[in-house]
Amino acid sequence: MPRDKAAEVPNNNIGWKFANVVPRDRHNLNCKFCGRHITGGITRLKQHLAHMKGQITGCNNVSTEIRQEMMKDLLSNNEKKQREKQKQRDEVTTQVRASQWQYDDACDQIIVSSDDSDPKMTMAR
Ligand SMILES: [Zn+2]
Repeated sequence: MPRDKAAEVPNNNIGWKFANVVPRDRHNLNCKFCGRHITGGITRLKQHLAHMKGQITGCNNVSTEIRQEMMKDLLSNNEKKQREKQKQRDEVTTQVRASQWQYDDACDQIIVSSDDSDPKMTMAR
């Protein structure tokens, strides 16, 4: 395998292990198991390997083990996306709450400091 071709492949995605990538085009792949040409990127390839229903024709040559691994990977990616969405919603809620807290604190401080400062001011005089 030429060195520059390997450099094109991002190594953080499990699906790349099973793909032959068209150089300089990450969205054009060939399945390593059946040689099928996949367009649309690594997620498509994983759907092909996982036999995900309704997405793409499943791979005929993939082993059950890898098929399950790919399905797990696809599902965990979906979960991650959902968790991120939930996190964003939580952050907005937290920010709203935080600004309310700050508002309450400010009100308390105004009341407290006006109570405190008067006797002190009087004492100082
Ligand atoms: Zn295949």
